[in-house]
Amino acid sequence: MKKRISIIVPVFNEEVALTPFFEVLRKHLTHPFLVFEILFINDGSTDNTQATLEEISRQDPRVRIVSFSRNFGKEAATTAGLHEATGDAVLSLDADLQHPPELIPTFIKKWEEGAEVVIGVRSNNASDSLLKRFSSATYYRLMNSISETEIIPRATDFRLMDRIVVDSFKEFTERNRMTRGLIDWLGFKREYISFEAPERLHGTAAYGFWKLVKLATESFIAHSLIPLRLAGYLGILIAIISGPLGVVMFLDRFFMPWGFNFTGTAVLADIILFLVGIVLMALGLFSFYIGQIYRETQNRPLYVIRKSK
Ligand code: UDP
Ligand code: MG
Repeated sequence: MKKRISIIVPVFNEEVALTPFFEVLRKHLTHPFLVFEILFINDGSTDNTQATLEEISRQDPRVRIVSFSRNFGKEAATTAGLHEATGDAVLSLDADLQHPPELIPTFIKKWEEGAEVVIGVRSNNASDSLLKRFSSATYYRLMNSISETEIIPRATDFRLMDRIVVDSFKEFTERNRMTRGLIDWLGFKREYISFEAPERLHGTAAYGFWKLVKLATESFIAHSLIPLRLAGYLGILIAIISGPLGVVMFLDRFFMPWGFNFTGTAVLADIILFLVGIVLMALGLFSFYIGQIYRETQNRPLYVIRKSK
């Protein structure tokens, strides 16, 4: 029995890039012992992408098309691809030739050698702006300091997964998802391939700066309750300063051992500070409960089994 490889490609308004992309792609999909399935996920394109895809599928019977009713975003498209794919391994890549198809045989080779996840890592980002480079470095530093799984900087969605990994992935039910993070969470034997991403073939990247900021904030919040906990710590700090100070004020006012003579305003300010400290502490406490609730609703599998006999 020949092994089967599924290639999944999310596309959104790629009518210009598609034909040259497919020309390059098909050149690298020849293998004596493997059959290929190519799955395009049309993520609600509003240009001629659908017609172009149908034309491509007429030329090559290995091509399948899944079309969304509207644009749901790349993460959703990739997830749909993983659900629809039937191969023994599934490889995902972008349609804009920023993930060079000539590397596909290398991905497959690593898989044949036993890797269960093969991840493409961008080696250059010279074309990115200084701001983008700085923010991505900061982002990875932050994420790695708060996240329980290691996150590899510059890992891309150019990725091959073995069937067992894909099947485990399909058990995730959470809605707000970053595929990359989930795959990292899953574990399994991984290999990395570094590659240079050329400039986008046509048009501009759909992920503009603000979209990236949004994605980064969302994944930060999804992984961390640190901001809420900070409020709690601040509350503790305020309470330990204003609490004893209040005691001093009380003693001074009624027994006058030191004669500080605090004004009424100062006393009031201290009482308010103390109460604010308590409120912040309560907020920090809430975050522990929210964290538990969040983890429960994510409904992740408790563990992931590679094999059992
Ligand atoms: N894409 C998609 N849905 C979207 C945006 C992008 O399916 O809403 C596809 C797009 O067609 C391309 C891939 O995702 O194949 C990567 O998109 P892009 O090149 O814009 O992103 P970047 O290279 O910045 O990651
Ligand atoms: Mg791109």
